[in-house]
Amino acid sequence: MNREVLINVAYILASILFIFGLKMLGRQATARRGNLLSGVGMLIAIVATLVDRSVINYTWILIGLGAGTAIGLACAYLVRMTAMPEMVALLNGFGGLASLIVGAAEFFRIRIGEVVPLQPGFTATAIALAVVIGGITFTGSVYAFCKLAEWLSGRPVLFRGQHLLNGGMLAGSVIAGVIFVMTGDPAVTLVAFAAVCGLALVLGWTMVMPIGGGDMPVVISMLNSLSGLAACAAGFVIRNNVLIVAGCLVGTSGVILSVIMCRAMNRSLLNVLFSGFGAQTGAAAAAGGAVEGELKPISAGDTFAVLEAARQVVFIPGYGMAVSQAQHVVRELAELLEQNGAEVRFAIHPVAGRMPGHMNVLLAEASVPYEQLVEMDAINPLMPSMDVAIVIGANDVVNPAAARDPASPIYGMPIIKAHEARTVICLKRGRGTGFSGLENQLFLLPNTRMLYGDAKASLQGVIAEFKSLAAG
Ligand code: NAP
Repeated sequence: MNREVLINVAYILASILFIFGLKMLGRQATARRGNLLSGVGMLIAIVATLVDRSVINYTWILIGLGAGTAIGLACAYLVRMTAMPEMVALLNGFGGLASLIVGAAEFFRIRIGEVVPLQPGFTATAIALAVVIGGITFTGSVYAFCKLAEWLSGRPVLFRGQHLLNGGMLAGSVIAGVIFVMTGDPAVTLVAFAAVCGLALVLGWTMVMPIGGGDMPVVISMLNSLSGLAACAAGFVIRNNVLIVAGCLVGTSGVILSVIMCRAMNRSLLNVLFSGFGAQTGAAAAAGGAVEGELKPISAGDTFAVLEAARQVVFIPGYGMAVSQAQHVVRELAELLEQNGAEVRFAIHPVAGRMPGHMNVLLAEASVPYEQLVEMDAINPLMPSMDVAIVIGANDVVNPAAARDPASPIYGMPIIKAHEARTVICLKRGRGTGFSGLENQLFLLPNTRMLYGDAKASLQGVIAEFKSLAAG
């Protein structure tokens, strides 16, 4: 077998491992092995690429490898769990930038006559696509990062004629791309290439502008999909089969994830991308969406008294649990409740937190048994039989307005029906609203008590009461 055939066999093997790895990521029990399998696939793909005849200089590859490893390791140690969405946004952006650079490098290589493409029209089309999609992904991801990191306001930036302008720029980049592919004039080709690049980079930024910080997880997942498509186009540019396959897998899985998130919020993808959602919720709250009533605080000691008598307890974690990193103390309290004779469950909302599977990851990290994790649709019918629902830094995902108030901007979003439990104890620091910026009627209901403070500290207070009882 010659070298080319061996490389392609290795690429097919790598692609099979990617596909099975992705499939295994779909279940918690197999996710770790799936990740490992995909990693092995990537290793095979990298080694096969490095022995490719067209790689003639390893110096820059080694420099890139060293720099990438150092940055990756530093990020793995330094980036907080709550900053993962920002991190993913940046990684997507770099993926898009890499595809843009591959497209540009190939363009200039062809231009200075270093290579003559076999099918010039096809290669030029692939270059244009890699540059357009890569450019949009890069600046869109950087903007998403800035919004999530609060370097820029999370509010949607809206202005008159915005969608028209974006549509015009998209049309402009398509026209420039067509000219780039069709023309034979070197000067026109260069101008068209520059126009494609420039318009794509501006468009990435302006397309994310009207989307509120609240919808950034969906945007990031869409940008992830785009980074896959850009990589796929780059794969066609350099005729690398595994890049084409891996790009398609990333592209499709990003779309699937975006659709899952949209369904969990009962919104369409178009609504997320074009409605300026955060601005509407702000307006709704300002126009009287705020709720009236009395918040009833409870102490750690009284919380303990309620929990000590409970036989059915459900924890409902949300973004606040991630902020306070309370997952380990939650597990400790759950164990104490079980020792006290209670049955404990964790209700998982699909968009609780700031990224898909956020709560699952945190609870798995704290070794909460999988079987205690109950999906929203399965826990809701059991809610009326729950003695206590403990809401840990969740807000929007337990807001009854989503089910009851047709005027609410989140009306129709499926929620965990915490309000149906006999007693609800909500852990939060103060009167902060959730991601949507809306007030929550749940906190004012007669059966709700507020345990104020950082979630981790509050839970430690309740655990201390349990322990002092055991010691006494
Ligand atoms: P949320 O609505 O954002 O509410 C989080 C709550 O946590 C706040 O009310 C805050 O109140 C409290 N909190 C913050 N830090 C805390 C701490 N250290 N200790 C205790 N409490 C703390 O969270 P959620 O209920 O999980 O809802 C997620 C939201 O994100 C939804 O609107 C969802 O649509 C959106 N979203 C999520 C995804 C995803 O993939 N997960 C995707 C798109 C959109 P205080 O400030 O008063 O403490």
